[in-house]
Amino acid sequence: MVIFKKVIDIQSFISDLKARGEVISFIPTMGALHKGHIFLVENARKAGGITVASIFVNPTQFNDKEDFKHYPISVEADIDMLTEAGCDILFLPDVSEVYPNGTENMPTYDFGYLETILEGAHRPGHFKGVGQVVARLLDIVKPDRLYMGQKDYQQCMVIKDLLRQTNSSTQMVVSPTVREDDGLAMSSRNRRLNELQREVAGVIYQCLVSIVAKKGSDFTVVKKECEDILKAKGFDPEYIELADADTLHLNNSYTNGRQVALIAAKLGSIRLIDNMLIE
Ligand code: AMP
Repeated sequence: MVIFKKVIDIQSFISDLKARGEVISFIPTMGALHKGHIFLVENARKAGGITVASIFVNPTQFNDKEDFKHYPISVEADIDMLTEAGCDILFLPDVSEVYPNGTENMPTYDFGYLETILEGAHRPGHFKGVGQVVARLLDIVKPDRLYMGQKDYQQCMVIKDLLRQTNSSTQMVVSPTVREDDGLAMSSRNRRLNELQREVAGVIYQCLVSIVAKKGSDFTVVKKECEDILKAKGFDPEYIELADADTLHLNNSYTNGRQVALIAAKLGSIRLIDNMLIE
């Protein structure tokens, strides 16, 4: 795997590859890699061409300074995992490479309704930061395909909208969520859970499974049950919602269309999110 830290170097390397007709697949990450990230790399590799991953903990998408300060970092282990997975290129820039002139004069994107609900409502400014960094990374890497995880469902929708707004020719590929044995969605933040928190963390998944299984019943009742279960296990639930899977318009009840159930809950200071499609 070739590692680049400078924008100018990765750009010239990739432009040579593209000139030779290579297809570029890109997996942006914030590091502290786990099997969920590696699954994206594997899916990209299966599609052929060159696989590029990035590791950059983007300060502008953290609305919570403490979350940023404690975000896990494990670059050496990440490099080993990516190498083993057969990733071709790693972009590992520092902040001054990604934002050489600061962020003040960079373009910002308006994601409208998507920014006002769920993660957008609970993490003000988060999607502005995500849009800003992904736009910048896409401009550097210029991938043909962009691999993202369903675990961050709303983020996938925001980035789809970014691709639309920028008339990008990059195709987005969404991979299903990789889970631990007890159903807990793999996440870099899981590393911060203590033993007791880790024991109960799978309850979010169980709640999602029950929301899916109870399709057709009164969602208000199901939601209250989930809220009570989460609270009893020591969670502080932020939202438990049903939404249209294509528009993310919130539904107060089960519908006949494709829906997605989404949960965000805190265990101590650690905020976990997960979702499940109801087909
Ligand atoms: P992050 O490093 O958390 O910014 O995640 C980088 C990419 O990996 C995003 O597209 C995430 O949605 C995806 N991802 C994170 N966790 C998982 C998981 N458990 N399964 C599948 N994809 C994931």
